[in-house]
Amino acid sequence: MTENFSDIIIVGAGMAGLGCAARLHENGFQFKIITENIGGRVKTSPDGEVNYGAYYITEDCKNILPFVEITGNVKFSNSRLHKGNDHYRLFSLRAIKHGFAFLRLLKDLQVFRKHINKNRELGTEHARDELIENDALIKQYYHEQASEYIKRRGLEKIVDEFLEQFLWASFFYDCRKVSTALFLGSLLPLLAKGHSFKMLFKKFTENFQKDIIFDSVVKVQRMNDHFELTTKSGKIYSCKKLVLATPMTITNKLVKPQKINGGINVSYYHVRGKIKPLYAGKGYNFFALAEASAISREPDGSNLYFYAGKDKIAKYFDQWEVITHDTWEPCLYFLGDNYVNMNPEPNLFLANDHNVPGLEDAFINGQYTAKLVMNKNKLK
Ligand SMILES: Cc1cc2nc3c(=O)[nH]c(=O)nc-3n(C[C@H](O)[C@H](O)[C@H](O)COP(=O)(O)OP(=O)(O)OC[C@H]3O[C@@H](n4cnc5c(N)ncnc54)[C@H](O)[C@@H]3O)c2cc1C
Repeated sequence: MTENFSDIIIVGAGMAGLGCAARLHENGFQFKIITENIGGRVKTSPDGEVNYGAYYITEDCKNILPFVEITGNVKFSNSRLHKGNDHYRLFSLRAIKHGFAFLRLLKDLQVFRKHINKNRELGTEHARDELIENDALIKQYYHEQASEYIKRRGLEKIVDEFLEQFLWASFFYDCRKVSTALFLGSLLPLLAKGHSFKMLFKKFTENFQKDIIFDSVVKVQRMNDHFELTTKSGKIYSCKKLVLATPMTITNKLVKPQKINGGINVSYYHVRGKIKPLYAGKGYNFFALAEASAISREPDGSNLYFYAGKDKIAKYFDQWEVITHDTWEPCLYFLGDNYVNMNPEPNLFLANDHNVPGLEDAFINGQYTAKLVMNKNKLK
């Protein structure tokens, strides 16, 4: 074994890796974290003012709330929607005709919220796949495509005119093709207060700062009774128990534990400049699927523009100065309804946001992975 030996190594310090590390630390376990950065898909502009990745949390994110500073309330009331040549406000007279469909949706959301919050409460102690499979409603929603739910509940028109746009900006994909669970989960801000936030990473990592190594793992080899990790800087680390808290695309490359489909990429610009009058104003601009775009006006006056496919910035801005232009690859990883096994081989553990995406759930998954690492029995 190398001199760089630790009993436990966690690769990745996004919400899942940090959730895992926090619980291991609380229980007196020693470990090292090897990571490219702290936060992963929680990333801000160079001045720390604008969130480029995860954008908001809700009041239901009880596990991560102690680690965030709430910076404001996310309000969608000023939003503008665009479909072809049709441009309209979110709260407008045309919304009235969808009143009954909206009430049906709200009723379903209320029930879903109770179930999902129960699931979250239990998620640090029980495997997420077991929890989902043991809850008839969540199980149905997890395995059902949203298009079926939309049809069953008569929501086609409200989806075409309003939700398709709003939900593209939530997960950058056709909302009819994701699971009902993700469709409803992303609409929960209709009921639960949404907040913009800054993640307090120092508070998160203060107890294990000295155990963090900034590097990138390029190769993982299983030896007889340990793992050897080679990093980009050429170092070799070894451990008995390995936690891969990396997005599934990267996990698949490093250890190929199972074939899981998914991986949605999205590009973004953070700009200062002059937006065209049609898109100007305080709120958000949500576009139909064919346009695959979303634009937010940030409190500091700058704009975030997310897009898939062709870069259309010149369509929305008359002038712009680029602060950042980048691609999230992967942005999200949730297609299909296969579960990721969090403990696919002896001493190999996975922590990620695949089975249930989002900050709170990635953190919960990380905490549950820590429990597996600590070798406590799985509850049936
Ligand atoms: C644009 C966007 C908007 C989003 N909006 C929201 C939102 O509003 N609300 C919400 O709840 N969620 C949102 N999400 C989803 C949320 O950000 C993720 O579900 C969550 O952050 C995933 O955490 P994670 O720890 O599983 O993965 P990540 O955050 O991706 O963390 C992975 C970690 O692994 C490290 N790593 C990767 N490869 C290696 C390697 N080879 N060697 C070493 N380290 C490595 C990375 O540096 C990183 O630290 C959004 C995501 C994106 C991209």
